[in-house]
Amino acid sequence: MAGSAPVGRGAFVFSSIGKLLASGYTAAMNIFEKIVSREIPATIVYEDEDTLAFMDIGPVIKGHTLVIPKTCYDQVAGTPDVVLAKLMRVCKQIAAAQMKGLGADGVNIIQNNGKSAGQVVPHIHFHVIPRFEGDGHHWNWHTQKYNSPDEMERLAAKIREGLDG
Ligand code: 5GP
Repeated sequence: MAGSAPVGRGAFVFSSIGKLLASGYTAAMNIFEKIVSREIPATIVYEDEDTLAFMDIGPVIKGHTLVIPKTCYDQVAGTPDVVLAKLMRVCKQIAAAQMKGLGADGVNIIQNNGKSAGQVVPHIHFHVIPRFEGDGHHWNWHTQKYNSPDEMERLAAKIREGLDG
């Protein structure tokens, strides 16, 4: 009957999910969603309707701040452009504030995608890391050489193909 409440198994499923949510069930939430929902504490430095910036619990350099969207997206390629634009605007503000407020000489903005790239929390986040002359931190950045200009060109061609897809 049109407009009536769902009946049978569907009704049971809806009612069970409702009860589960009402009971505060959060097993599927990642650590950053729990910070957004205030289930676990964080030291927040900036918040707006869509974005949160808070201190990283394990700073590479003290002052290391994470910038996240309140809605969970995993990696950059699956995150809407409008969300990325907001995140980058907040990263810019935090970077400027680290220079002004902490006296940082420079800032690294880093974003990891996937386990192979070092992403641990499956909720897109930008690391905004203040840098100070002589802070002693060095990225483990080993550069390689292409075997030939042709090898570089072949890889570039594959990336161009990916852009088309
Ligand atoms: P990823 O390796 O995924 O790019 O970075 C995850 C970051 O989250 C790490 O730098 C880690 O220190 C930080 N982190 C993990 N758990 C927590 C937490 O519970 N609270 C805060 N503030 N930071 C966290």
